[in-house]
Amino acid sequence: MGFSVLNVNVHRVHIPQWMWTILCQTQDIVLNYGCLMCDVHVFPQSQYDTPLLELIGIENEISLAIEKLTQWAAPRQVDRNILTVSDEVYVQPEPLGVVLIIGAWNYPWAVTLQPLVGAIAAGNAAVVKPSELSEYSSLLLRALLPRYLDKDLYPVVTGGVSETQELLRLRFDHIFYTGSSTVGKVVMEAAARHLTPVTLELGGKSPCYIDKNCDIRIACRRITWGKFVNCGQTCIAPDYILCEPCIQGRVEFYGADPKCSPDYGRIINQRHFSRIMSLMEGYTPVIGGQTDASQRYIAPTVLKDVPPHSRLMQEEIFGPLLPIVAVSDMDDAIRFVNEREKPLALYIFCSDKKATKKMIEETTSGGVTVNDVMMHYTLSSLPFGGVDGTTDIQIHAPLPGQSGMGCYHGKHTFDQLSHQRACLIRSLGMESVNLSRYPPQDRRRARR
Ligand code: NAD
Repeated sequence: MGFSVLNVNVHRVHIPQWMWTILCQTQDIVLNYGCLMCDVHVFPQSQYDTPLLELIGIENEISLAIEKLTQWAAPRQVDRNILTVSDEVYVQPEPLGVVLIIGAWNYPWAVTLQPLVGAIAAGNAAVVKPSELSEYSSLLLRALLPRYLDKDLYPVVTGGVSETQELLRLRFDHIFYTGSSTVGKVVMEAAARHLTPVTLELGGKSPCYIDKNCDIRIACRRITWGKFVNCGQTCIAPDYILCEPCIQGRVEFYGADPKCSPDYGRIINQRHFSRIMSLMEGYTPVIGGQTDASQRYIAPTVLKDVPPHSRLMQEEIFGPLLPIVAVSDMDDAIRFVNEREKPLALYIFCSDKKATKKMIEETTSGGVTVNDVMMHYTLSSLPFGGVDGTTDIQIHAPLPGQSGMGCYHGKHTFDQLSHQRACLIRSLGMESVNLSRYPPQDRRRARR
């Protein structure tokens, strides 16, 4: 597999006109084809999921990049010290070169186009590799992108594992991967061979703690939306509930039969259907549990009193099963979270602000939303990503993060896909100031 794009030498002094054009054209793709994407049922998402959860976010990212690009790309003046007092010192963001973007299937547009917007804004070329599991979206992306963007600078490569592995053998300047932690390790290993930096947007189990001190009816409604939207196939869906046994019985989710609802999706494929079914084995659901293999339908399902060491609590569920694990109080919930992998997201439902802040301070996660779920994802001003394992956690020491490394959204994507070049410009004058640093040192000592 060869790409002319890999030979591109990307430089940016001023933001060229073509970059604005490309960003506007990316916006056109999203605006003009938003309806089409939903109509062709690119994968069994509900009809409102694609516009609500994917297209609006991508469009916002493009608008923001167009509005702020001059500011983001401008040299940033920094502090000087006594040795550099008369120099010009600044940080100049520069393009990295060619970025490889590998996407997952669950939000096939957001996980490819959002990094692409940042890659373009930062002045990079990019190879886009969408997931083979969301096959129709991949084909549509491959058909659409070259109609708007330079096909040599932004090629789309479709295919599965072997095509991705072939791509990974090539040398890129950055790899931006979204998908499972298992494949994340494969990507990082391949990147290490070329010392290529990576951004890994991975998954894992995002806990959701419900304190007895909160409006449980509202909490349940918000959690229900976040857990079962896109049929639970969302990286930051609340994976499981932690709450005191006394409120387990008060937790209620879902009412009417969602099977007939156009708002409720299906599982991506048979393999994932069987995987989720096997996670349910041995439990009697307190809510839901109905399935239909012919449609890959699994009802929103709640399982109570789930043992902490069960298989359901070991791997990311990524489906419409919501286990409830009993904890004795908030401290116990904090302990529970800290004994496990650093999660991508943490959710806390609690009316006591002081207690909420304590839980935030004593845990870590890629992001946290209090009294709702997933909302931190919607803000471009907040960095979105996992915990890269370098976070200095003072009180407890959870296991190193499997939720990813690096972050994106808004300016964070621009920064992630730029090199921050340190620039110092000095004149050839005032040489007497420098004499003290030149050898021979003994001559100077003798002079003293
Ligand atoms: P997937 O199977 O579609 O794989 C993702 C990409 O990796 C695809 O392009 C695929 O071709 C490639 N791939 C798969 N196996 C490979 C291998 N052995 N070698 C090289 N490339 C390979 O998606 P997935 O991994 O099932 O995605 C679901 C996971 O992604 C979940 O864990 C979810 O939490 C996570 N996710 C994270 C985010 C985020 O923003 N953090 C967003 C969406 C999904």
